[in-house]
Amino acid sequence: MNKLDFIGPQFRKKLTKVLKDVDKGIDMLYEIATHDEKTGLFNQKFFKSVLSLELDKARRGKKLSLIMLDIDNFKKINDNYGHLAGDKILKQLANLLKEKIRKSDIASRFGGEEFLIMLPNATKEKAKMVAERLRKSVQSAGLKPRITISLGVSEYKKADTSNNLIKKADAALYRAKKKGRNRVEV
Ligand code: GH3
Ligand code: MG
Ligand code: MG
Repeated sequence: MNKLDFIGPQFRKKLTKVLKDVDKGIDMLYEIATHDEKTGLFNQKFFKSVLSLELDKARRGKKLSLIMLDIDNFKKINDNYGHLAGDKILKQLANLLKEKIRKSDIASRFGGEEFLIMLPNATKEKAKMVAERLRKSVQSAGLKPRITISLGVSEYKKADTSNNLIKKADAALYRAKKKGRNRVEV
C-alpha cells in the first residue's frame, strides 16, 4: 500500500503540489547556479566542473579541445553605441554560438566579453575548423553594430591541467589579437 493512501485526499493534493513546487524550485536553483544570467550560456563555474570530468577522460586517451573567443574592440562598441547595445550584442553572439555548436559541446561565458567552448572528442584540427566556422558566422550574421571575434584553440596534451589547457587557449587568443584580430590561432 502507498504511504500516501493513509492521508486524506485533500492533504494528499496539497502535498503533491508542494512536492511539485519544490521540484520547480530545484530546477530554478540549478539554472541560476550553472548559467550566466545575461547570455543564458553556462557560467565559468559549471564549465570548470565539466572540464575536470572531461580531463579525466582525456587522461585515458579521449581527445579534448578548447576554443577561447573574444569580441574585438568591444570597448569601442560600448563607447560608440552604449552599454545596452553592448549587452544586446553579447546576447546575440551567445545565441549564435548555441545555434552553431553541437549539443555535446559546452559553450560558456567565461568573463565580460570572453567565451570558452569545450569540444569533447575533438582534435585541435577539428577545433580549428569549428573556430573558423564561428568566426565566419559572426562576420556574416549581420549583427548591428557589426562585430568581429578572435579565437584561440588548445588541445589536451599529456599532463595538462584544466588551468593549463585554458591558459594555452588564452595564449593562442592573444596571438590572434596580436596578428590583427578577426582570426583563429592554435
Ligand atoms: P580586444 O580586441 O583587445 O579584445 O579589445 P576590447 O576593447 O574588446 O577589450 P578590452 O578588454 O579593452 O575591453 C573589454 C570591454 O568589454 C570593456 C568592458 O566594458 C566590456 N564589457 C565587459 N562585460 C560587459 C558586459 O556585460 N556588457 C557590456 N556592454 N560590456 C561589457
Ligand atoms: Mg575584446
Ligand atoms: Mg577580453
